[in-house]
Amino acid sequence: MGVGEAYAMRLAVIGGGAAAVSLLDSALRRFEGEERRCDITVYEGSANLATGRAYRPDLDCALVNREAGYMSVRSADRGHFLRWLHRAPRYRDTSYASLPVDSYVPRRVYGEYLTAHLESCRAEAERRGWTVRVVPEFAVEAKATAGDVMVRSARGVGHFDRVVLCLGTGAPADPYRLAGAPGFHPDPYPLRAVLPEIAADAHVLVLGSGLSGVDVALGLLRSGHRGPITMTSRHGLLPGVRATQPPYSLRHLTPEAVRQRVARDGALRARDTWRLLRAELTAAGVDLRALAADRPAAERLREDLSRLGGNACQAAVSAMMHQVREPVWCAMSDTDRRLFLSRFHAFSKPLYNPMPPPTARTLLDAMDSGQLAVRSRTTSVTARAGGGFTLEDGGGRLTRVDTVVDATRSGLAGTGSRAEPFIDSLTGSGLAVRNPVGGVRIDVTSNALRAAAPEEDPRFFALGDIASGDLFYAGSMYMLNTRAEVITHTLARAAHAGG
Ligand SMILES: Cc1cc2nc3c(=O)[nH]c(=O)nc-3n(C[C@H](O)[C@H](O)[C@H](O)COP(=O)(O)OP(=O)(O)OC[C@H]3O[C@@H](n4cnc5c(N)ncnc54)[C@H](O)[C@@H]3O)c2cc1C
Repeated sequence: MGVGEAYAMRLAVIGGGAAAVSLLDSALRRFEGEERRCDITVYEGSANLATGRAYRPDLDCALVNREAGYMSVRSADRGHFLRWLHRAPRYRDTSYASLPVDSYVPRRVYGEYLTAHLESCRAEAERRGWTVRVVPEFAVEAKATAGDVMVRSARGVGHFDRVVLCLGTGAPADPYRLAGAPGFHPDPYPLRAVLPEIAADAHVLVLGSGLSGVDVALGLLRSGHRGPITMTSRHGLLPGVRATQPPYSLRHLTPEAVRQRVARDGALRARDTWRLLRAELTAAGVDLRALAADRPAAERLREDLSRLGGNACQAAVSAMMHQVREPVWCAMSDTDRRLFLSRFHAFSKPLYNPMPPPTARTLLDAMDSGQLAVRSRTTSVTARAGGGFTLEDGGGRLTRVDTVVDATRSGLAGTGSRAEPFIDSLTGSGLAVRNPVGGVRIDVTSNALRAAAPEEDPRFFALGDIASGDLFYAGSMYMLNTRAEVITHTLARAAHAGG
């Protein structure tokens, strides 16, 4: 480096999906007006640069599950996506040019925004004299010495000062070991490739009743599928339906209540979390019995659709997720986190991750017509000799289906097969530690990886679902945005220190 030449931080971003775009956007704003440069290398081995798994081109019925006015790459500018959409030349003469804030867009449109924004970020970076390079390969290994981090991909190595893991999530879990069975689809995405392979009159079993399961059912219905569709999961719970949320002030499950329990017991126990949660929901006017799992899915959907103007339960849960999720989760031991996940997660997820109302209406119509059923307590799904599958539920009832689509999720912070070798290399050399409830351990104040031997000045960070083990919920766009800000804050401090 010459005299007077600004120091350039060499940053590697492993994974080039939505998290990487948000990080790049945040870094550019964080270093605005500064002489310091960043030389950024993004490793992305798939063809899904910028869009990742969720926002790549797909059927238009696969919707973003938040209103367009709240989807963004920036936590402090929730209208960023909608402004882009309103001005996008390709949508000038379409209804997207004046789309209201509370509409839901296809995920592929959001992917176009991410792709366009990545290009804007690259242009802005280059204008500032930074470099942004994309290596179209999967990173397989990282090694650190005192002054340098080496990242290896198939065809070479790169040398960096800081590394951010943006590895995304994995494919479904294949809970019934059906891989290879004819008629089994191990991954629902992209829907536009998977669904045309299914005969229009086939009985389709969708494993999983979360948002991906909903994508499959909706995709089939919108593609003119005529055969029966059965969705199944342990509890048979569909996501709730997103309502307009009135402001809600927490009364029982508050940061102060958590502090008091921690002061008394040294940690927050799962049973106290449940007690506070129950008190909060009761105070919000929620009938807890109505949350019980054994109500028919259609009844729940109908009820949710009847209260789109104000859903007390969703308002309370949303306030908890925003205001107290982190203090609660951080105050629990690993054992209590596990307990909470095993007992309550399946019930809480439909509440905090709801589906768009138009989606719910389509599903309800299909249930009312008898084409779509949602079942719980599946005990096994087995491939039959000669083709097809048998579904068995807890009561010993057997149902024959023709095709199975796996839309389950692999745990709280599941990562994909392409991410695993890289994570293994970090844990193998003590640069990262696995989190027993999923993903890797992070320091929640900086998103830095927790190493076996902690570094004073952390060099590895994690952004996205991989951090959910310590944050409970780290993979939504909003969480990616807020945590990208946390990481670039630390990076900027390191750059100021010249390290
Ligand atoms: C189907 C689906 C729908 C979703 N819908 C919404 C929604 O509506 N609203 C919302 O807020 N959130 C949604 N999410 C959650 C979240 O916004 C997305 O998952 C988002 O894409 C996460 O971004 P990411 O960058 O963390 O992961 P991804 O976008 O998956 O990107 C990770 C990238 O890392 C790459 N990679 C992995 N390992 C390596 C390696 N070793 N080397 C190099 N590259 C590697 C992968 O190829 C991948 O492209 C959705 C998630 C899914 C799966």
